[in-house]
Amino acid sequence: MEKINLLDLSKNELIALLAEHGQQKFRAKQIWQWLYRQYVTDISEMANLSKSLRAKLSEMATIRQPSPVAAMESSDGNTFKTLFQFGDNEEIEVVLMKYDKRRTLCISTQAGCAMGCPFCATGQMGFRRNLSAGEIVAQVLYYARMLRSTDEKVTNIVFMGMGEPLANYAETWKAIRLLNDAEGFGLGARHMTLSTVGLVPAIRKMSREPEQVGLAVSLHAPTDALRDELVPVNRRYPLAMLMDTVREYIETTHRRVTFEYALMDGTNDSNRQADQLAALLKGVLCHVNLIPLNPTPDSPYGGSPAERVYAFRDRLQAAGIPTTVRIRRGIDIQAGCGQLRAKVHASAPMTEFSVEP
Ligand code: SAH
Ligand code: SF4
Repeated sequence: MEKINLLDLSKNELIALLAEHGQQKFRAKQIWQWLYRQYVTDISEMANLSKSLRAKLSEMATIRQPSPVAAMESSDGNTFKTLFQFGDNEEIEVVLMKYDKRRTLCISTQAGCAMGCPFCATGQMGFRRNLSAGEIVAQVLYYARMLRSTDEKVTNIVFMGMGEPLANYAETWKAIRLLNDAEGFGLGARHMTLSTVGLVPAIRKMSREPEQVGLAVSLHAPTDALRDELVPVNRRYPLAMLMDTVREYIETTHRRVTFEYALMDGTNDSNRQADQLAALLKGVLCHVNLIPLNPTPDSPYGGSPAERVYAFRDRLQAAGIPTTVRIRRGIDIQAGCGQLRAKVHASAPMTEFSVEP
């Protein structure tokens, strides 16, 4: 029988598992702290548990770690990217970005992605499988361990790596709760941001969650005609429906929403499109993040030149839409989602991507 991954368990599930083996609640709390405060990788390291309990636990459970199989550091030394492999050979990417005192981790929720956005390296590889909550938190614990050696901490988490977090809702939210728990990892929900392609029912569900996780929506186009092409799921959840849902989300949560917009040369970056975007977002409590597209080898889309990016920003700002340009960090290490994997496997054939209309 496959061993239980301790990182897949909520605190209550861990308490229940230990109770089944005649152990009191405080034991579960000790284990919880070994996992989420000490970041141990092996049950044998849990020094305040008796040897016999450690042996018993090790028979039925483990702390499952993905293996780092490739890593890259940007030339400025501020961005680190790791390609991890799970036991079934599926691979995902994690990026650490250092900025002032912030240590922001960009983590993955799925191996591959079914949404088929044609400009995205993960979309191009197609859907492989969902990650479990434990596989999501293991990414964070790996970097927490690495940063600890220099007395640093993960200060922010963005769910902007591979995959569509809201298409793996239950495990993603379980991971959020595991990382948020005050007796464990203790990262405030406000320090986490989830990015979605715009899955309307899941955004509604998210607005009712107690944890105040930030919401970012990948817009990339101001009209349905263009968004149908760039973000195929728009055919199911078109812009009017998406914007209504975002407005409801803001009404319920009173939180500002971020819109991501990857600027693609000659595709979505004209002044007219900036005006259309400003009209779409007028009166919405939001913030626009412009990212010049990080081009992938297999797509016809190119990144907008810097002058265009700043002109687009200025036009949005003039229309009263708060806008920032995300600095193109990590470009020299394929930090765009899915790009390190694509590079490592450049010689291997890519899986065809599936489009979910
Ligand atoms: N699936 C989610 C989260 C992962 S992608 C989503 O789409 O929102 C995180 C962000 O990176 C999204 O805004 C996505 O559109 C963007 N992105 C993907 N490929 C990119 C590329 N090649 N260049 C710039 N941004 C990209
Ligand atoms: Fe999936 Fe996001 Fe990439 Fe679209 S941009 S294919 S939703 S990971």
